[in-house]
Amino acid sequence: MNSTGSLRDAASCRDAIAAGTSAVRELLGVLWQVQGGELGALLTELDDLAAVAGGARVAVVAEAETRGEISSSQEGSTAGWVAANAPSLAAGNGAGQVARLVRESARPDLAPVRDAATTGQVNVPVALTVLTEHARLRPRLRDEAAPTVLRGLLDMGIADGTRGVRSVRPALLAAYGADGEFQDDADAAERLVSLSRPSSDELGALTYQLVLDPVGAAVLEAAIGPLSAPVRGPGGERDRRSVQVRRGQALVEVCRRATSAGDRPPAGVKTTLILTMGLDDLAARTGAATVLGSAQGGALIAPETVRRLACDATVIPAVLGGTGELLDLGRATRLATAGQLTALWWRDGGCSFPGCTTPAHWCDAHHLVHWADGGASDLANLALLCGRHHSVVHRDRLAGAVAGGTISWDLVPGSYDRHLAGTSPPGVRFDSGPAA
Ligand SMILES: [Zn+2]
Ligand SMILES: [Zn+2]
Repeated sequence: MNSTGSLRDAASCRDAIAAGTSAVRELLGVLWQVQGGELGALLTELDDLAAVAGGARVAVVAEAETRGEISSSQEGSTAGWVAANAPSLAAGNGAGQVARLVRESARPDLAPVRDAATTGQVNVPVALTVLTEHARLRPRLRDEAAPTVLRGLLDMGIADGTRGVRSVRPALLAAYGADGEFQDDADAAERLVSLSRPSSDELGALTYQLVLDPVGAAVLEAAIGPLSAPVRGPGGERDRRSVQVRRGQALVEVCRRATSAGDRPPAGVKTTLILTMGLDDLAARTGAATVLGSAQGGALIAPETVRRLACDATVIPAVLGGTGELLDLGRATRLATAGQLTALWWRDGGCSFPGCTTPAHWCDAHHLVHWADGGASDLANLALLCGRHHSVVHRDRLAGAVAGGTISWDLVPGSYDRHLAGTSPPGVRFDSGPAA
């Protein structure tokens, strides 16, 4: 830590700390002497000092704990000892947090977190968030990935703090999770999707609470994106609406257009959502796809969810080869004609899942042999499904077949794979129990 090469002993370091503390106190009285342009640099110096001091505080507690100073003290607990000796940590839960950090980062595999905390690279709350996130992810990772994931969490903490640590979770799970873990998260998030009933305030404005999974958010952002852009007035004057106002009005406009479409087939594509995914991942149903463009750009979508989205004629999947080159950019109009869509609506009438009564205009056109497996976009390979049953059909990997103008479904999970592999006898009865 000493640039001159000769190491100071602890006593002279403590003298210097005392001198530095006095210097900071005295500085307040002569702050006016600091040139305006130097105030930023001064703040950086003080910030550095505070970070290093905060880290050293953790190091001292860890040292006292290791040496048995704390267990033999009057306080008896680490938090109590910290509060007694570091008055600024006594208020709130500061002492408790330092104690928890020292205790939880004692394991050898967590040494990087402890090192980052004691050198002041991350503060105590961020270090604790890294430990918590790592503990939550740990059982769901491939064994060999744990150190890489810890490093990833820590780097995000150093760069972006607590928020950064939490934001990187989907990417780490997609890249290093055991098979199916990222998809499980995505499925769990999908179950949380909700829109509250409105509550009104005294002015008559209504507040809704909307919770979306990454796919729902990507669809919403893609739909309202173009409509929420600022619009110049007739004389070229600036749009004075706030972003929030524009987004709210765009959402209402999207709903208005949807209801005015009535029960006729939509004239154009619904929403253009562009996703990229590696070909290998798409085939093997691993990894994650990335949303391009819109406010949700960069969001990760779980692999089975991508195959469901790629089914719908209004999503554009961009499949990437091994070196990231674009292999196949699906066209937005994979349903060739409006006439074809009308025929599909007429044939199925609505969601084709047994017992569902969702009308046609709320349905997706599902590819019976998935688009990702090379299924064609013609009537013999399409079936209408509502959003919920489209999810179910992909999640449980169900096979469907067109016979005599009606769709029937094999509701045994995994039937799709058996039909695709040809391990089901031809002419198997759908809707009627195990197929293979
Ligand atoms: Zn589908
Ligand atoms: Zn349905």
